[in-house]
Amino acid sequence: METLVKDLPEIFETFSDQRRQSFIAAQEYKQQGKPLVGIFCTYLPIELPLAAGAAVVSLCSVSDETIPAAEQDLPRNLCPLIKASYGFAKTDKCPYFYFSDLVIGETTCDGKKKMYEYLSDFKDVMVMELPQSQSPDGLALWKKEILRLKEVLEQKFSVELTDDKVRAAVKSCNKERQALINFFELMKMDPPPMTGMDCYNVLNGSSFRFDREAATKDVIALTERLKEQGSLKGKKPRILLTGSPIGGVYQKVLSALEENAYVVAFENCSGAKSLYGLVDENAEDIYDALAKRYLAIGCSCMSPNHYRMDQLRKMIDDFKVDGVVEVVLQTCLTYSVETRAIRKLVTEEKGIPYLAIETDYSQGDDGQLKTRLNAFTEML
Ligand code: SF4
Ligand code: SF4
Repeated sequence: METLVKDLPEIFETFSDQRRQSFIAAQEYKQQGKPLVGIFCTYLPIELPLAAGAAVVSLCSVSDETIPAAEQDLPRNLCPLIKASYGFAKTDKCPYFYFSDLVIGETTCDGKKKMYEYLSDFKDVMVMELPQSQSPDGLALWKKEILRLKEVLEQKFSVELTDDKVRAAVKSCNKERQALINFFELMKMDPPPMTGMDCYNVLNGSSFRFDREAATKDVIALTERLKEQGSLKGKKPRILLTGSPIGGVYQKVLSALEENAYVVAFENCSGAKSLYGLVDENAEDIYDALAKRYLAIGCSCMSPNHYRMDQLRKMIDDFKVDGVVEVVLQTCLTYSVETRAIRKLVTEEKGIPYLAIETDYSQGDDGQLKTRLNAFTEML
């Protein structure tokens, strides 16, 4: 992408379309005989497949197109992300799944880990045992699992994952993350220099670029452009979004919220959860460093989930947030149960309004959602 010559709306449009554009890139990549690894979760230390010479791509589906096919095998009252991801795999409609040589999942929520069992009917699937707490024992187990992943990748792709290769991947992923953090933190400006929709599209779109170095360069150039351009005109209330992954619902949620407000911060998996925390490049044992960094992600599948609470406290202050909206995907039990603790933190400790909504990938609730989200932002 020629970030320096295109105008800003065109650049945002390119990022927004990146997931679709890279379908062809995935095919070309495979034609060159290069391996592709499909992943589902932010806990996966992408440094290892990258060090093994593979491209890494997210398989979390964002459309309800294949949910009816999934419901032939899975219960209807299951999270739409799980049903859609399984549906695309089953119907062979996701090019990323189709081209993946290996799919890696983790034992996060119950629905997902059971779905992985069925996915192995179609693909080579490795499931990593993710501990459910961030205790020292949990950390030891996670390091063991990361070492098991190393062995699986070595065998699958006939490579040796030397420490040097892994350290080089750690360095380059840190560089990518830092560039995205610098971009994301532009939203601390008041008013921000772009809408939350544009910000989300860049964060999400850049993860689908196969040439990761070029993607990082584009993000750095875009950050500079936005700094020069400065704030958008007109103050509006500032919203932080938290909860389940929003890939399949962000359009309806953000467009309703941004009628009267700016979504300035994302604590979800495309935002803070995947961005914050660099891996210690100088650690004596690089696997210790990887285990520490990844286990510190504040997902609701952890119990207790102190990291999410701490991250939220910090982000509400740093991004000068006026209200918090939590998006829970239908039947997502852990995020749903955790809404009580988040509401308490936001309203009692931080003294700002909070709204939790439950939704799915369909358009059936668009009108109702818009009414509730508009009412929330008008009150701020
Ligand atoms: S919400 Fe939790 S389980 Fe889902 S992708 Fe993010 S870290 Fe993984
Ligand atoms: S949104 Fe919730 S239920 Fe769905 S896969 Fe993620 S953690 Fe599991």
